Formats: sequence, C-alpha cells, structure tokens
Amino acid sequence: MKFDTLVIGGGLAGLTAGISLQQKGLDTAIVSTGQSALHFFSGTFESLESPSERLAELFSAAGIRTHYSPGVRLMPLGSFRPAALSLEDVELFPEPHFADKVLIVNFNGYSDFFPAFLTEGLEAQRMSCRLLELDPPELQALRQSPSEMRSVQIARIMDRHWESVVQAIRAALRDEDAVILPQVFGLKDPSIPGRIRQELPVRVVFAGTQPPSVPGIRTQQLLRRRFELAGGTFLSGDEVVQTHVHDGRVHSVATRNLDHHYLEADHFILATGTFFAKGLAASPSGIRESVFGLDVDCAADRNAWYDPSFAADQPYLHFGVRTDAVLHAVKDGTPMQNLYAVGSILGGTRPEFGSGAGLAVRSAFAAVDQILNQYAV
Ligand SMILES: Cc1cc2nc3c(=O)[nH]c(=O)nc-3n(C[C@H](O)[C@H](O)[C@H](O)COP(=O)(O)OP(=O)(O)OC[C@H]3O[C@@H](n4cnc5c(N)ncnc54)[C@H](O)[C@@H]3O)c2cc1C
Repeated sequence: MKFDTLVIGGGLAGLTAGISLQQKGLDTAIVSTGQSALHFFSGTFESLESPSERLAELFSAAGIRTHYSPGVRLMPLGSFRPAALSLEDVELFPEPHFADKVLIVNFNGYSDFFPAFLTEGLEAQRMSCRLLELDPPELQALRQSPSEMRSVQIARIMDRHWESVVQAIRAALRDEDAVILPQVFGLKDPSIPGRIRQELPVRVVFAGTQPPSVPGIRTQQLLRRRFELAGGTFLSGDEVVQTHVHDGRVHSVATRNLDHHYLEADHFILATGTFFAKGLAASPSGIRESVFGLDVDCAADRNAWYDPSFAADQPYLHFGVRTDAVLHAVKDGTPMQNLYAVGSILGGTRPEFGSGAGLAVRSAFAAVDQILNQYAV
C-alpha cells in the first residue's frame, strides 16, 4: 500500500498532522497502537496561552467544543491550576473562589471521583460544601462489580439518562450557588455537558475523575472521525514493528497486523509519544527511540535522569528525539530527509512549541507545513 504520508501514532500530534495533510489532499494513513495521552486528558490544553485560529478551525471542523478564557481550573483533588484553552466541559474561573456554597454530586459506588479532597480544597478557598450521592437505578447493573463502575461505562449509560440526574439535583438544591459533577457525561455527544448546564439554575462545574478521561476519549474519537471523513486511513490497534531505510530516507514500514504488506509513503511522521506511549524506552544502558532507533537527547549519566525530589521538574520528562531545525528526525548524526518527529516524543526542550498539547499541535503544524511546501509550485 502506498500513501503520500504515513503518520505513526494516533494521539493529539499524529491526528493533528493527519487531518491537516488529508484536508490538503495528501493521501494519508495513521497507524496507532493504542491508548494515547488523550485517554488521560484533563480537558485543558497546556501552553496554548494565546488563541490559534488554525487550531480553532481544526477543532471546530471536528466538532470539538472549546473555549478560551485565561484563568484557573479546578483539579480533581481540589487544587487550582492556571489554564487558558479548554474543552467546553471544563470551566475556567478568574479566581479560585467561584462560589459560596457548593453541592458536590457523586454516584453511589463510584470511587474514581474524590468529593472529600474537593471539599478540602474548596473549603480552603472559603467555599462551603455539601455532598449529594445519587443512586440512579440505571447504574444498578454496573454497581454489581467495582471494576465496571468506571467513567466510560457510567457515561455510556448516563448520557441517555442525564435529565434524571438534573431532576434529582434540582430537587436537592438548597441555597447552593454551584454544583460539581464528575466528568462522566458526553462520551459521544459533546453537547450533553452544556445541556446539563442550561437545565440547572446554578453554576455547574465538571471535575476530573481517575482515567480513562471521558472528554479525552471523546476528543480522540472526534479527531479520528474527522480524519476518516476527510478520506484518511486509520489503522487502529496496529503497531509499526519494522522499518526500511536507505540512503537517509524511509521507504516503507511493516506493521504487526499487516504482516508482509509494507506501507510505503513519500513522507513519514513519527508521533509515537514518550515513555508512557512507548515512543521512548528506558533501559539500564540508555534511552532508545522505539521505531527507528533515532538519536535521543538525554543525560549521559543515568543518575541525572531523575531528581529524587518528587515535586521537582523531572529531567527525563525533557528527553526526546533529536531533530534538525525543520523537524527532520536525526539518526546517527544525520537528519532523515523524509521523516519528521512531532509531539511529545520531541521532549520538553522546544520552547518554540511549548509543552503538553501546545507542543503536540504546534510541532504537528510545523511538520505539515514542511511537507506541504514540497508540493507548492
Ligand atoms: C498521562 C498524561 C496526561 C496528560 N494530560 C495532559 C493534559 O491534560 N493537557 C495537556 O495539554 N497535556 C497533557 N499531557 C501531555 C501530552 O503529552 C500532550 O498533551 C499530547 O496529548 C501528547 O500527544 P502525542 O500525540 O505526542 O503523544 P501520545 O498521546 O502519547 O500518542 C502517541 C501514540 O502513538 C502510539 N504508538 C506508539 N508507538 C507506536 C508504534 N510503534 N506504532 C504505532 N503507534 C504507536 C501510541 O499507542 C499512542 O496512541 C499528558 C501526558 C500524559 C502522559
């Protein structure tokens, strides 16, 4: 099979690149093994402090609802963190004191949400809290097994019954001026969190849960759907296991599922993430880029990989593959002419791109522009 561009990795960086290229008419395939950082996504896009028209267009075409409002967001354990761009689900406040009295709502038996920590954090910001535990009959079957009572399973059910949750909260509200709910709504339909907000007479805040992240999975699914609707080929659950490189160019790759069918392309984009997604792998002898064995920027002394202080900015989080100025990945000291590295595999050492989601989308756009320039007349 032959494509114009093959993207390895279907997280935020790979999907951003894939959609942008496919929309410009380049026949593009994405091969992706499995979970990406979006499955753990908080709902706020780091280091995107100023609105980007290009990203806004991409998200809006995919049906991803975001808002830009620099301020702070409520974290799952009751602390607050600065944020600017976030999914519509996640409310951003000018300051942490966002209400006087808060009703925290949970579902009976759901232990991936933390009302006690939230209460402690909110009380430190002079807000008083009351807990309401709902026991919807629709969740009865899930509750039989604690391993089933997880965010995604709850969302699958409660997305069909969110009105009954609204009714129960309306009946329970006393003099509270805000309600906090776990982020377990809108797995497929991004409008549900907004509809819950509209139906309640007080401020509604959705707070993070333990992974998997419902808004993150929804974001990934919407991006993937956008890519496929644009005509892209998404090879899900597959993994690049072999590469064919000659004279500093990648010719083709082989995947686990396609056996002997090689995937050829003119351009390749590596978006395989960091240690978490297995784009980088650490061993006693060093840190290795997993697909091509690219050069990696990392501390030579293993003791300098981490800081024993838990709260410190950990050096290993800044390790990443080496590239030239236009993101050609470097192998044995030489940039590969048709292989671009994007996203978190670059490490946190690229101030021009930022970190987190900012690094993923800005570097993806930069590689896309490099590729498109080659088609410009
Ligand atoms: C747990 C976690 C939570 C985070 N939360 C946030 C947040 O809330 N906000 C924020 O701004 N940033 C967050 N980040 C930072 C995050 O790295 C970026 O925001 C961004 O989503 C990373 O995207 P990526 O595409 O570079 O990598 P990833 O999302 O890691 O995606 C890499 C993909 O490549 C696939 N892959 C790996 N090897 C292969 C192979 N050989 N063949 C095929 N596919 C392969 C993986 O399965 C994975 O799907 C988080 C990071 C982590 C690790």
